[in-house]
Amino acid sequence: MRHFAVVGSGPAGFYTAEALQKAYGEQARIDILDRYPVPYGLIRFGVAPDHQSLKAVSKRYDKVVESAGVDFIGNVTLGRDVSVAELLDLYDAVILGIGAPHDRKLGIPGEDLPGVVGSAEFVGWYNGHPEFADLDPPLDGTHAAVIGNGNVALDCARILSKTRAEFEGSDIVRHALEALEQSAIRTITILGRRGPHQIAMTPKELGELGHLEETLPVVDLNDFPPRAADEGLEPGQRKSVTILREFADIRANKRKSMIFDFFAKPLRIEGDGKAERLVVERTELDEKGAARGTGETYTVPASLVISCIGYSTPPIEGVAYDERGGKFLNEAGRIGERLFAVGWARRGPTGTIGTNRPDGYEVADRIAAEMPPGSSGERAGAEGLKRLLESRGVMPTDYDDWRKIEETEAANARPGSPREKFVRVAHWLETLGR
Ligand code: NAP
Repeated sequence: MRHFAVVGSGPAGFYTAEALQKAYGEQARIDILDRYPVPYGLIRFGVAPDHQSLKAVSKRYDKVVESAGVDFIGNVTLGRDVSVAELLDLYDAVILGIGAPHDRKLGIPGEDLPGVVGSAEFVGWYNGHPEFADLDPPLDGTHAAVIGNGNVALDCARILSKTRAEFEGSDIVRHALEALEQSAIRTITILGRRGPHQIAMTPKELGELGHLEETLPVVDLNDFPPRAADEGLEPGQRKSVTILREFADIRANKRKSMIFDFFAKPLRIEGDGKAERLVVERTELDEKGAARGTGETYTVPASLVISCIGYSTPPIEGVAYDERGGKFLNEAGRIGERLFAVGWARRGPTGTIGTNRPDGYEVADRIAAEMPPGSSGERAGAEGLKRLLESRGVMPTDYDDWRKIEETEAANARPGSPREKFVRVAHWLETLGR
């Protein structure tokens, strides 16, 4: 019998567990660990609440954990409750799929002013992440700025733009829904340091912006290269750029605007004890396609600034780390002997949920090559882990606990939200009578 510990129960962890289960069948026990009492990581805390179709992938993960030999062990924090060295002692292989939950820093003056938040914080706030439930982002000003030209920037700008009715059917948490309903924000400026051809936004996500009830997307066609240049783009990017161009044709009067400000590099954030404005430098593309400042500066008013410029994986003691990439140092997923990384902890914060599937399967293949199904190990696995946790007073949650929590959340459902999500670890544990 082999014992595998997959740390992190987001998409990367689940696809890896699925692949290991398929490769080993009854010859392995696979434990999926998570620091929270309930699983799904990015699906629960990252994917936008108004993108329920993306969240539906969790149904597939349900099947994985319901299959023989796979278990969920929640409420266990790696590095606090158990170390990587201890897991390596207990398991034949340890796979780190802990994602990239930390915001990359802008590295500009004023970044620490109140009113400046990272996308992990803001997204966590509206998704009920226990660490960010108290963020209370300032929504009392009329202007917000979103820095970055990726899909996360679009998520944040869209969430700021929607009406209560537009959240119908979502699972946005109550505190965010109520705060957003009272929001005074009327102008959201999305700042991209490069141009429309360099966006990292996908067509479906851009397309939604043309149909917002109260918000008009605004582009300046002077920022775009001649239309013929779109022909050189790869098809998906061409579609995105076409959608952006079409925003210029929308004729409508709406209360709010979402302004795409291209070739705009934030230099600093200013304000009297809190964010009030961004000083931005106009850029142009250099020979390599990177943003180069032109020296021309201007200000963009914003009492809320959300930086959506990417994420990093937190370092863990004793695990080789790639500072520049913000991920574990690894070679095709292998960090060291019997220690692996998958997902964003392996590749950095890129790709869609589906990208994690081949990623997890590749690492599972490597593990199966190193310890072929049929060979046996002598590790203690879950039984040993549970003994260790008990000796430390840590009470892990299991599949039944997680289901009980979800059932309680669902039972608290109210109109406009299919589930009243718990936003405190203590509330989750109270549900279990702990
Ligand atoms: P991303 O796609 O890598 O975009 C990051 C953006 O930040 C880029 O536009 C980048 O510009 C900009 N940026 C980086 N450093 C900057 C700086 N110092 N100053 C100004 N701008 C800076 O990352 P993301 O939006 O966080 O998304 C992460 C991944 O999740 C992506 O693969 C994304 O597609 C995926 N995702 C998907 C969905 C969905 O499918 N609905 C939703 C959310 C996220 P440069 O290009 O100039 O570097």
